[in-house]
Amino acid sequence: MPARRLPRPGAPRRVATLSVHTSPLDQPGAGDAGGMNVYIVEVSRRLAERGVEVDVFTRATSSDLPPVVEMAPGVTVRHVSAGPFEGLGKEELPGQLCAFTAAVLREEAQHEEGHYDLVHSHYWLSGQVGWLARDRWSVPLIHTAHTLAKVKNEALADGDRPEPRSRVIGEEQVVAEADRLVANTDEEARQLVRHYDADPARTLVIPPGVDLDRFAPGDRAAARRAVSVPADALVLLFVGRIQPLKAPDVLLHAAARLVADDPVLRPRLRVHVVGAPSGSGLEAPEQLQKLAGDLGIADVVHFFPPQPPDRLAEHYRAADVAVVPSHNESFGLVALEAQACGTPVVAAAVGGLRTAVRDGVSGVLVAGHDPADYAVAVRAVLARRELLSVGARRHAARFSWDRTADALVAAYASAAEEMAGVVRRPSLDWAVAPLRALPGMQVAR
Ligand code: UDP
Repeated sequence: MPARRLPRPGAPRRVATLSVHTSPLDQPGAGDAGGMNVYIVEVSRRLAERGVEVDVFTRATSSDLPPVVEMAPGVTVRHVSAGPFEGLGKEELPGQLCAFTAAVLREEAQHEEGHYDLVHSHYWLSGQVGWLARDRWSVPLIHTAHTLAKVKNEALADGDRPEPRSRVIGEEQVVAEADRLVANTDEEARQLVRHYDADPARTLVIPPGVDLDRFAPGDRAAARRAVSVPADALVLLFVGRIQPLKAPDVLLHAAARLVADDPVLRPRLRVHVVGAPSGSGLEAPEQLQKLAGDLGIADVVHFFPPQPPDRLAEHYRAADVAVVPSHNESFGLVALEAQACGTPVVAAAVGGLRTAVRDGVSGVLVAGHDPADYAVAVRAVLARRELLSVGARRHAARFSWDRTADALVAAYASAAEEMAGVVRRPSLDWAVAPLRALPGMQVAR
């Protein structure tokens, strides 16, 4: 086994990114694949462009998967054998963490390219693996939670199962162990400090981004033709994994109210639902189809399977309003992508959506989940769509994956320097300084 070396200060050259339960190669919008997958793909590519080589470790979920896949120049996905390939649910993965960790450590021990300078874990399952890898390799552990059980359990939708105590404990351990915690928003940073007793000096706010080249305004008529929508339709769009937490049922109820209040809307109104089931409790399209039938709007609601990004951009462009009625979102990339395409958003005033949407400027934030309020908000947005569309594009343009990657490199460097004893633990203000212009994004105190 190669000799261990002392941690190296400065920006890392090689990072082990851990994504135990979902692969960056998966199509987001179904099962466990969503915003975290997009985050890892976008950030890893940009880290590599900045000279940081990234290996993403993820669990092999099929015997067909090659052990190693080059996802992009400088970004390698390593499939780890931990438990049976198929049929293992996320809730069963805690029992496979030892196998996963062992595989990661063995893989690293055989590396010819050299050691990792840093571990970045995503979601608490990966945090548990990163904790051990960090100790073994004497490198910093950076952790991004993406969602927090305590926060999720406070905002459960009907039919949602509470997150188990074992996850809460596991998250608390990772929060205590990580050298840096990366929060998407100021609010998430505060939640980490308040609910998980995170050290404010180790808690950074680094907002996620949006690909402004891909998600850009375009020819709306052409987009409507591309997704087979009549030119005069009024399209309300839901995009995401179909689960109670995302509350697509609130949108259907709101649409039923809109056509009941204004029957002339009915021939033009369309509700587009893009995505597939995730977890139990709300199976799409069957359950939502049944709900649409019960509400008398079966002809209004149209279902689309998960769409690749370029096709998804056409859906955003074709829509009049994107509706994100989630009970909780740590950020809500869908809201940002829609706005980047010039489509205003009606969203629940929860979690990261309060940062992702600028109320009255790029869309409307709604308190609570009463469909009547969503119907009112949709009408308000339709009445000012042109103006809000301009605000939406401007607001989205304040976020970018390049800035996320720059801030991450700075956070990596500061953690490495601290570990190497080069500097005291810094106030992390400089790491988030480029993001100061964004409202509400400060280091948690
Ligand atoms: N997504 C996609 N195709 C789909 C539906 C969703 O690529 O059909 C992507 C979408 O572009 C977004 C992500 O899945 O980047 C969902 O992220 P979000 O933060 O909105 O929700 P999460 O899945 O993290 O709960």
